Amino acid sequence: MRASDALRKVCIVGGGTAGWIAAALMAHHFKGKLFEIELVESDDIGTIGVGESTIPPFMELIARLEINEQEFVRATQASFKLGIEFEDWRRKGESYFHPFGSIGQPVELSEFYQCWLKARQAGQPFELMDFAPAAAMARNGRFMLPFKAQKTPIGGAAYALHVDAKRVAQFLRAHAEERGVTRTEGMVADVRLDDRGFVDTLVLKDGREVTADFFIDCSGFRALLIEKTLGVGYEDWSQWLFCDRAIAAQTRNVGPPRPYTLAQAQDYGWRWRIPLQHRTGNGHVFCSEFLSDDEATRILLDQVEGEVVAGPMVVPFKTGVRDKIWHRNVLSLGLASGFIEPLESTAIHLVYRGMDFFFRYLPDRNCDPRLAGEYNRRMTADYTEIRDFIVLHYCATQRNDTPFWRKCHDMELPDSLRERIELFRVNGVLREGHDELFRAVSWHSVLEGMGIHPASYHPLVDRIEEGWLFEGMSQVRAQLAQVAGTLPTHQEFIDAHCRAE
Ligand code: FAD
Repeated sequence: MRASDALRKVCIVGGGTAGWIAAALMAHHFKGKLFEIELVESDDIGTIGVGESTIPPFMELIARLEINEQEFVRATQASFKLGIEFEDWRRKGESYFHPFGSIGQPVELSEFYQCWLKARQAGQPFELMDFAPAAAMARNGRFMLPFKAQKTPIGGAAYALHVDAKRVAQFLRAHAEERGVTRTEGMVADVRLDDRGFVDTLVLKDGREVTADFFIDCSGFRALLIEKTLGVGYEDWSQWLFCDRAIAAQTRNVGPPRPYTLAQAQDYGWRWRIPLQHRTGNGHVFCSEFLSDDEATRILLDQVEGEVVAGPMVVPFKTGVRDKIWHRNVLSLGLASGFIEPLESTAIHLVYRGMDFFFRYLPDRNCDPRLAGEYNRRMTADYTEIRDFIVLHYCATQRNDTPFWRKCHDMELPDSLRERIELFRVNGVLREGHDELFRAVSWHSVLEGMGIHPASYHPLVDRIEEGWLFEGMSQVRAQLAQVAGTLPTHQEFIDAHCRAE
């Protein structure tokens, strides 16, 4: 690359979670040395304000930005998240847990899941979650940072946060501005292209102009640059994911926050409960083919536990991914690049991932399309993997009590998911790429939780002496339950963590 072609300025459009994560990461990494960074956001439009449940890579993001975790937890009124409790998905009255971190430890050359399969087939009374440290803490309403309990069975857990989305954006804004990002408040009213069809200038409503060499479109569902300006289309995934709207409302807490997100299936979708320190986020994700906004709102308000302090607010969405997430000199990020419904809290992770890949394929001012092509291939693979994982939660349902669930049960699966399930059914083997977000623990938790079981276990497990294996598993299970019961409650942990300097 010739130095004269290097990017001189990058402009981010949008100051929601995506915009400020992008700004904070670029400011942190480039330290004002490579190019100037300006973020344009409109106070009149505001942000979507949902997006409060995260997954463990979010903790990596905090660490990577060298943000003090305690300070962040305090500032965003965060609580800790050990996984997701899924209620009523397979059948009404049944539930399962998707824990963060490990489930058991490999025994000799066999993964723990295979040992568990053998134990189950031999009639041993073990549940898979008996061996998940995160589930053990969550069930008991307890919490401890896993790395502080490394010598105990709890050490294998992982965690994420429930956060106040507005406070996250404020926190990251301060972080980015301190490191040299310029913020411009104003509404983009027009966009000018140069003779290559690259975005060149944003014209604000009051006439001010902002130019840059490269633009990151974080304008949310408006997709101002990638779609409205460059006309990039959207691959619609609603043939597999039928929900297309959400009602969101915040309530006062009625008890101490639970260290996990609740995803409870409803007749025409599902409901989330995300507990923070100062309030609880609630939502009802549903399929508008079967339910009106008013009905969906009533169902949510009938179920929430505390007094409503904000909302209800209707959030329409379209599940899918941008045909090209990066096109010419515009990279879309966050809701502008695609959206898979929030069942596994993956959207904020995709923002972080999107920036990581942007750094890897960082262009110069010519924006070689081969860089964008590779970026798009990697990001689309991530979106597809997550889509399949989310579809699994629906398609394996045994519910047939509403037309919505019958439709989920009867849907034709994407080939990639169908093949994964068929392979798994043989003897529990998983198709795993080296760089996928959801690892074996996640797939095992949901496959088992939804009642999809392998016909057999992996032959290698038979190398292990059976009596010794089952006795060892019994001891591990007892030890995990015993240690989990001695930990601080989630609330006690938050109080101590937020107080400590
Ligand atoms: P927004 O927050 O919408 O921000 C868009 C920005 O663009 C705003 O600053 C706006 O002012 C600006 N803008 C737009 N147009 C203009 C203009 N013309 N001029 C100037 N500025 C403009 N993710 C998770 O990880 N976990 C969850 O639990 C989760 N739950 C969700 C629940 C629902 C119902 C939905 C819809 C999403 C959820 N998400 C979740 C996704 C998450 O909310 C988003 O990924 C995240 O908030 C990022 O949004 P954003 O920054 O892309 O968009």
